[in-house]
Amino acid sequence: MTTMHMISVEEALDRILAIVPLLAPVDVPILEALGQVTAEDVVSPLDIPPLDNTAMDGYAVRAADTTGASDASPAQLRVIGELAAGYLFDGSVQPGTAVRIMTGAPMPPGADAVVPFEETDEPSGRNFGSFAKSRDIVGVLKPADPGANIRYAAEDVRKGQPIIPQGAALHPAQIGVLASLGMATVRVHRRPVVAILSTGDEVVEPGVPLRPGQIYDSNAYGVSAMVRANGGIPRRLGIAKDTVEALTARLRDGLDADMLVTSAGVSRGDYDVVKDVLAKEGEVDFWTVRMRPGKPLAFGAFPSGDRRVPHIGLPGNPVSSMVSFELFGRPAIFKMLGRSDWQRPTVRAIADEAIANADGRRVYARAILTQRNGAWHAALTGPQGSGILTSMAQANALAVVPEHVAVINPGDEVDCLLLDD
Ligand code: AMP
Ligand code: MG
Repeated sequence: MTTMHMISVEEALDRILAIVPLLAPVDVPILEALGQVTAEDVVSPLDIPPLDNTAMDGYAVRAADTTGASDASPAQLRVIGELAAGYLFDGSVQPGTAVRIMTGAPMPPGADAVVPFEETDEPSGRNFGSFAKSRDIVGVLKPADPGANIRYAAEDVRKGQPIIPQGAALHPAQIGVLASLGMATVRVHRRPVVAILSTGDEVVEPGVPLRPGQIYDSNAYGVSAMVRANGGIPRRLGIAKDTVEALTARLRDGLDADMLVTSAGVSRGDYDVVKDVLAKEGEVDFWTVRMRPGKPLAFGAFPSGDRRVPHIGLPGNPVSSMVSFELFGRPAIFKMLGRSDWQRPTVRAIADEAIANADGRRVYARAILTQRNGAWHAALTGPQGSGILTSMAQANALAVVPEHVAVINPGDEVDCLLLDD
C-alpha cells in the first residue's frame, strides 16, 4: 500500500490538516492557558471596578462644600476619618465633612468628589495613619467638580459583558483580565501531546561518548523544542534501532499521544525497515514533496482504539527534519490547539547573495534578515546542506525560492518567512 506521489507543499499540508483533529475543551488554571485557545466566550461574572472608588490619594468630599474655595479662602472641612484601599467606610460624609482617602478605596457614602492632596493645605499627604490623630480640619484650596477623581463601578467591565471571544489565543494581558474577573480557570482546547521517535542504528542520546560511526540525536531535541515552543507537549519515545521489532515496540508506546512524529528512514535509498513497519502497522503514504530541504515525507495515521493517531514521518537530515516540521508539524499543532494563525508573517527582502534552485523544487533557504536603510535584506547562513544544522540555528527566516525560479540574483527581491515569534 506504499504509493509515491510528487506533491506540492500546499497539497501535503492540506492532506495533513484534513485528518488532524481539534482537541477537546478542558478547564485549566489561567496561567497554564497562555497561548491556548478559548473554547467558549468568556463573559464577566462581575462589575469592574465592583464599587465606586477613588483614583487619587486625597479627601473624599461633597463637591457642593467646595464651591468658591481658593488659596485665600479655603473651604474648611472637618475630617471624620480615613480610609485605605480594601476597607469600607463605616459612616457617611455629611455636609461640612471629609474623609481622608487612599487610591483604590471605595467612596464613602455621601461623598461625590475626591480632592487630591495637592489641592488642599496638606499638599504632601503625610504618613497615612498619623494624620487623624494630629489634625481634624482640612482646607480645600480649589472647587471640586462632582465626580472628580472617582472611578465608577463597572466603568471598565459590566457583569454579563463578553470579554474574550471563543477562539482567542490567550496572550499575557488576557491572562491578567481573566484574573481580574476572579476566574481561576478557563476553558480552552487541550494542548496536543506529540510523541517523538528517532530511528537509526547510528543515532545515540546526547550525554554519552560517541563511538565511531555514531551521531547524536539532534532531531528529537530540535523537534521537541519546536513542539513546546508552539504550545504542544513533547513526549520523547527515545531511539529505535533499524529493526522491525524495535521500531514496532517503540511506536506502540506513542499510540496514546495526539500525534506521532518519527525521524529518518523515509528516504528512497534507505534501509527500508521504517517504511515497512509504517506501512504494515498503519495507513501511511510516502510522499515526495516538491521542496528543498526535506523532499521525502511520510504521512498517515495509526489506529489506536477508536482513534486514528496522525503520524508525520520526517526525513532524517537535521535541517530537513526541522524545516519539514516547521512547514507541516507546526500547523498541525496549531489546528489541534484551535489556532488558525499558523501562517508565518512574510516580508519581501533584497537578496544580498544568490540563492540557487537547481531542480524546480521550492527552496527554503536559511537566512538572516536585517534592516538597512529602511529595507529588509536577506543573507544566507552559510552552506545550506541539509545536514548542516548550524545553518538553521543562525537563521531568523526562511527565504523562499519558488519552484519555477531557477535563481534569485543578488539585488532581487525574495519572500522570507519570519521564524522568530
Ligand atoms: P535516513 O533518512 O535514515 O537516511 O537519514 C538521513 C540522514 O539523517 C543520515 O545522515 C542520518 O544519520 C541522519 N539522521 C537520522 N536520524 C537523525 C537524528 N535523530 N539526529 C540527527 N541526524 C539524524
Ligand atoms: Mg537511517
